[in-house]
Amino acid sequence: MRNIEEIKTDVLVIGGGAAGCWAALAASDHGLDVTLVNKYPLGKSGTTIVGMITYNAPMGRLGMHPEDSPDIYFADLVKEGARLGEQNLMEIFVRRGRLTVLQLEKLGVPWDKKDGKFEVRRLPGMSIPRGCFSDHRTGLMIQRMLVKEIGRRANIRTVERKITKLLMSGGRVAGAAGLNIHNGNFVKFTARSVILATGGAGRLFRLTSMPEDARGDGYYLAYEAGARLIDMEFHLFFPATLVYPETLRGLVVPRGTTVPLGARILNGRGERFMHKYYPEAELATRDKASISIFREIKAGATTPHGGVYMDVSAVEDLLERYPTSFKDFKEAGMNLPEERLEIAPGLHYTLAGVDINSFGETSLPGLYAAGEVAGNMHGANRIGGSALPECSVFGQIAGENASMHALFAADATPEEGSAEDEFARLDALLDRGRKGEFRPIALIRRLQEIMYDKVGVLRNGPGLAEAIREIGELRARASDMKINPSRVYNNEWIDAVDAIGMIDLGEISARAALARTESRGAHFREDFPWEDDANWGRHSLAFKKDGRLDLSTRPVTITRTEV
Ligand SMILES: Cc1cc2nc3c(=O)[nH]c(=O)nc-3n(C[C@H](O)[C@H](O)[C@H](O)COP(=O)(O)OP(=O)(O)OC[C@H]3O[C@@H](n4cnc5c(N)ncnc54)[C@H](O)[C@@H]3O)c2cc1C
Repeated sequence: MRNIEEIKTDVLVIGGGAAGCWAALAASDHGLDVTLVNKYPLGKSGTTIVGMITYNAPMGRLGMHPEDSPDIYFADLVKEGARLGEQNLMEIFVRRGRLTVLQLEKLGVPWDKKDGKFEVRRLPGMSIPRGCFSDHRTGLMIQRMLVKEIGRRANIRTVERKITKLLMSGGRVAGAAGLNIHNGNFVKFTARSVILATGGAGRLFRLTSMPEDARGDGYYLAYEAGARLIDMEFHLFFPATLVYPETLRGLVVPRGTTVPLGARILNGRGERFMHKYYPEAELATRDKASISIFREIKAGATTPHGGVYMDVSAVEDLLERYPTSFKDFKEAGMNLPEERLEIAPGLHYTLAGVDINSFGETSLPGLYAAGEVAGNMHGANRIGGSALPECSVFGQIAGENASMHALFAADATPEEGSAEDEFARLDALLDRGRKGEFRPIALIRRLQEIMYDKVGVLRNGPGLAEAIREIGELRARASDMKINPSRVYNNEWIDAVDAIGMIDLGEISARAALARTESRGAHFREDFPWEDDANWGRHSLAFKKDGRLDLSTRPVTITRTEV
């Protein structure tokens, strides 16, 4: 027996991480009725709470490096993104970042300061240290304070539901349909504006530092609705992600540059190898370090759990200099600094995304996007510490502009029967699931293997073609999934919905990677190991046209020729 719950609201925000919370607060400032929907408990899910290190903003005279400025930050972003980032978005980002640090302080985030000035750290890609931080738990602090503020706003309603489809009215997005995981009931939202803030898609890959809920819902919701996706071949890996012990799998090892200064990377035979691939050896940037480690793993010289070793025995003051993670590792039973860590590159950030303009608008009227789910600002690579401020700046922008749309656009209600069609699809998954053959989680796991091995750190034409073929086989199996028939907290049902969306996403990424016959930033083609500005200094675009994937390209928006 299932019920349908109906909720009408001015602005519907999907996703309650930093981007979604900021969007909801900005919309609430305009006095609108705002609904923030998150698939798991608000403040206890998503990637924001694991964003642990820095929050970059040029603090000028308020920080320890008064010589820093928006212009210097802009130049760093253009360079690190291998000239593929949208510069009109960067212009806004570098100017609004500092204000958001102060707004967060006002909400209660206790930034680390010295003599009244913001302390800042330097990460790779920064020409000047500009990473503000809060007690080595920056993301968690931000999320906590945002959720507290949301709780104080009478015009923000928070609900725990999983959105499975965006609802249209003509060509405009006018709501969303979804599922209450707790009881299996359905929900239909009617909204004047909808903001996607659903985070990244790390779980497309076998090894990732992102939490289990980072399955890329927002990308497949947007794609299904007909929104344009951008640069879908770009997925950023972090070179030092733990593969063992199992309880710590997916945690990242903090870095001086690529690894803690003084650490050595060894293959399964105990030999140093990083210098074979790049002269910077252990000090290479994270894209190069990921390539070196992945190559050594592919060559077969692995540790017992398929990675390489990080030896931290010679790192001075390990626990004092890198307190967050190494203390956690020690508490989990590791004998540090003597015991070697087993690491491999893990997916860390989804550069690919929903295409937005400087108002946070997507290609579909009524639909906005912000945070990790949005693409195109960073380009082909991202400077560490620039994602959390992106959530603040573009979360606010999406909230402000979605509010204006909600105030001035004509009324719209979702097309007759569109929500009911979605509920029928979800019901059919359960009904067919009684007799089906393939467990959804097994399909997801297989997809993660394919993506990691063939659409991951190293790519080549034959491997990508093989991945596309194998993903096609998974799609066929996804029409014959075996699902436990219960409606109450049925994770298999959720897995089934996600498997279908993730298979689409995997194929889009693989096809976009096959089309880009060059190497740039986080996209490395073994068969095209050079940058090709003449043909590929452009964005790739993906959208669904007549039920099929349509790939094209577009020039990058350049605001400054000299940086
Ligand atoms: C280990 C790690 C460390 C990091 N450290 C830093 C750092 O130091 N500095 C920095 O700037 N960045 C860092 N990042 C990146 C940064 O944390 C993320 O990019 C950012 O927090 C993403 O925020 P978001 O609001 O876009 O998404 P999230 O915080 O992931 O929130 C999205 C929310 O949407 C919900 N959701 C998803 N789908 C649905 C659906 N269908 N229906 C309803 N709800 C849904 C999810 O459950 C989730 O709660 C780090 C990332 C990782 C993995």
